[in-house]
Amino acid sequence: MRSIAKILFPVNVPEPFDYVVPQGMRVARGDFVFAPIGKQMKLGVVWELGTAESESIPGRKLKEIAERKNCRGLNVGMLKFVDWTAKYNCASLGMVLRMVLRSYKALDPSPIVTLYQPSTTVRLAGLSPARKRVLDLEGVWPARAADIAKLASVSASVVKTMAGVSGLLEQITAPLDPPFDVPNPDYDERKFALTPKQIAAGKVLSDLVAEQSFNIALLDGVTGSGKTEVYLEAAAQALRQGGQVLILVPEIALTQAGLRRFTERFDAEPAQWHSAMGEAARRRTWREVAQGRAKLVVGARSALYLPYADLQLIVVDEEHDNSYKQDEGVIYNARDMSVVKAKLSGASIVLASATPSLESLTNARTGRYVHVILPERPGSAVMPEIELVDLKEDPLPSGKFLSQPLVDGVKAALDQGDQAMLYLNRRGYAPLIICRACGGKLKSPDTDSWLVEHRRTGRAMCHHTGFSMPMPRACPECKVEDSLHAVGPGVERVAEEAAILFPDARIEVLSSDTAGNPERIRARMEAMAAGDIDIMVGTQMVVKGHNFPHLTFVGVVDGDLGLAGGDLRAGERTYQTLVQVAGRAGRAEKPGRALIQTHMPEHEALEALADGDREGFIAAELAMRELLGLPPYGKLAAVIISAPDANKADEFARKFLAKAPRAEGIEIMGPSEAPIAILRGRHRRRLLIKAEPSVNLSAYMNSWKSRLRPPNKTKLQIDIDPQGFM
Ligand code: ADP
Repeated sequence: MRSIAKILFPVNVPEPFDYVVPQGMRVARGDFVFAPIGKQMKLGVVWELGTAESESIPGRKLKEIAERKNCRGLNVGMLKFVDWTAKYNCASLGMVLRMVLRSYKALDPSPIVTLYQPSTTVRLAGLSPARKRVLDLEGVWPARAADIAKLASVSASVVKTMAGVSGLLEQITAPLDPPFDVPNPDYDERKFALTPKQIAAGKVLSDLVAEQSFNIALLDGVTGSGKTEVYLEAAAQALRQGGQVLILVPEIALTQAGLRRFTERFDAEPAQWHSAMGEAARRRTWREVAQGRAKLVVGARSALYLPYADLQLIVVDEEHDNSYKQDEGVIYNARDMSVVKAKLSGASIVLASATPSLESLTNARTGRYVHVILPERPGSAVMPEIELVDLKEDPLPSGKFLSQPLVDGVKAALDQGDQAMLYLNRRGYAPLIICRACGGKLKSPDTDSWLVEHRRTGRAMCHHTGFSMPMPRACPECKVEDSLHAVGPGVERVAEEAAILFPDARIEVLSSDTAGNPERIRARMEAMAAGDIDIMVGTQMVVKGHNFPHLTFVGVVDGDLGLAGGDLRAGERTYQTLVQVAGRAGRAEKPGRALIQTHMPEHEALEALADGDREGFIAAELAMRELLGLPPYGKLAAVIISAPDANKADEFARKFLAKAPRAEGIEIMGPSEAPIAILRGRHRRRLLIKAEPSVNLSAYMNSWKSRLRPPNKTKLQIDIDPQGFM
C-alpha cells in the first residue's frame, strides 16, 4: 500500500491536500516538501501521514511529492498551534501557515562568507586617507567587504588589498547571519536593587516557570511599578533551564532604550522580530529561533508564530493593548493565542499590565490565573495626581483647544526645567474640513469618512484608506475659493497653539505620520527620554510603555474622544488609555501630574480616574457587562460582509443569516450597515453574534461559514471577540 501525505501550502486554502509519498522517500509530520500544485512546484508542509485508503476514490489520481527539503521541519506542537489558530479564529489553515513561513531562506543554513576585521599587527604611520577611514570604523567588525566599503566610502578593492600584502585587515570565514549572543541569566548590571515587593513578585513568577508546565499569571502593577524588572526574573529562570523566552511588546515599544534593559540584565541583545525588519534580519531571527539557539526573543505580535524549538515562557507586556489584535488577513488576538501557545508548549505565560483587560482580571480573580500585584512605584516615585478640567467651567478660548489650567500645568513644568506632554489621539491638523460657503465637508472618495487636514504636508487625507490629495484652494462642490475651514483639533494644531503660548520651548509632534518610519519614531522617543524635547504633543503612540524620567506634566486635550461611538469597550479603553498616559508622568524622583479636559466629568470612567478608584470602575463596568451578557460573561463574534455593490452585500447578508445553524444560547443581531458603510468602494454589512459562555462559538461559526460560500467578489470575514466596531 502506498503511503499518502497531506500537504498544507501557505496559501489561502482551508485544508491540506493529499499526495503520494514516492518509493524510497521518507517524510515525517512537519517536514518541508516541494510538491506540484497546478503547474507550479510549491513549498508545503507535511501535515498528516496516512495510507492509501482514500486513494481508492474513483477518478481521483494523486500526484507525488517531488522532493523533501533537507532541513529541520516544524515540530508537532507548531502544527497543532497553526490548526488551533485557524479553527479558533475561523481562518484559512493555509493563511495561518503563511504567518509561520515568513522567510524561506531561513530554512537553509546561513551562507558562509568572507568577513574582514582589523588585524592585530602594528599599524604603520602614513596610511592613506581611504585606509584610515576603514580602520577608523567602529562597531562593525567583522564585516563583508562591500559593507565596509560602503560605510567608509572606499571601493571594495581597497578593503581587499588591505587584507592582502599590507596585512592591515585579516580575513575570516563565518556565517553571514551570526548567532545571537547567549543571554546570561545571572548577569545583572542594573543600577538599582529590586524592592522586597518586586523580589517577592519575581519569585512567584520564577517558581511557576520552574514547574515547567502550563501556568498563567497576571502581573498587575501600577504604571512604573517595575513590571519589566519583575518579569525579567521569570525570564532568567526559563533561561537557566535552557529554555526559550518570548517577550511580546506593542510594536512601538521596541526602542533601543527598551532593548537596553534586556542587555543590562542578561548581557546579550535579544533577538528581535517586528514589521520594520528587513529580510536579512528576519531570516536570521527565524533560523536561530527554529534551531533553538536564539534564547530570548523580543517582538511584536507576529513573533508568536516563530517556530520555537523549546519555548518555556511567554510574556505579554501591556496585555490590554489593542495592537495585539490583528485586524486584517487572519484576524486574531495575539494575547489570547499566546495563552493557547503556552498551553500547547507546556510553558508559562505572564500577562503584564497596569490596566489589565476585564477578561484577564476576571480570570485572575476567579483563580484561573495566578494574580501577582505590584501596588506601588519603587523608591520615592509616587503615582501622578490626576484631575479633570470641566470645560463647562473652564471654557476653551474661541478657536483654541487648551484651557487655562492645561496651559498653567505646562508652564509650571517648564519653569521647573521639566518636560510636558499633550496627548490627543488624533493625527493631522484638523479632523474635519468644512466649506464656509456651502456647508459641505470634504469626504473620502470611496469611503464613508471625512478627510483630515494635514497642514505639515499640505494634504487632505483619509485615515481609513490612506487616500490623500493636496489640500484644495476651492471647495470641490461649490468651487468658492478660500472657503475651506479646519474644524477641531489634531496634534499638529495643538502643537501650533503650544508654540504660540511657549515660543521658546522645543516642541515635537509624535504620531504615525509626523515621524514617518519606526526608526524615526524611536529616535524621537529617545530624544524625549534624554530631555531634548520640552513639550511633546502625541497620539496614542506616546502611551506605550515608555519611561521619560523628566516628564512631570501630562495634559489630555480631549478625554471624551474614546467615549463616542457605540463600542462596548469604550469606557474600558478610555480608562486604560488615560491611566497609561497619565502614568508617563512622574516616573522618577519628581512627582507627576495629569489634567484631563472633558465635557463629561460625570462619566464613570473619568470620575473613577480622578478619584483613583480603579475598583469602583471595574465593578461598575463588570456589572454592566454581566447584565448585557457581554465579555467576560458571554462571547461575541462579528461577521463582516462586503461587496462592491450594495445590493449584493445586502443579498448575501440575508442569505447568510438564513443559513445560521439553530443552537441554544446564541443570539444574532443584524445584518446592519457597518459604521463605516463603504470602505475602499466596498459596501459593508455586519452581523453580531452573542453567545452564552458555555457555547463553543468558534465551532458554531465554522459550521455556519461552511454552509454557504460567498459569491465572486463578495467577501465574508469572521472576527472572533471583536475589539472595535468599524
Ligand atoms: P512598569 O513596566 O511597571 O511600568 P518599569 O519596569 O518600566 O515599570 O519600571 C519603571 C522605571 O522604574 C524603570 O525606569 C525602571 O528601571 C525603574 N525601576 C524599577 N524598579 C526599580 C527599583 N527597585 N529601583 C529603582 N528603579 C526601579
